[in-house]
Amino acid sequence: MNGEETAFTCPHCWESQALTLDPQQTDTFVQDCAVCCNPIEFTPLRDDDGLVVGVDVTAE
Ligand SMILES: [Zn+2]
Repeated sequence: MNGEETAFTCPHCWESQALTLDPQQTDTFVQDCAVCCNPIEFTPLRDDDGLVVGVDVTAE
């Protein structure tokens, strides 16, 4: 499942962007938006098998 991409919308500038999911990254992490440079908090979403299938985003 390495290199799976998901789309998210920046909570600051509302630009739709792609993010490469890391299946090992299951904790919330913060990354700056590539467009507006504001920090975005990503919460990985996992399916019933524990695989990271997407992210929930909130403004940091
Ligand atoms: Zn942004």
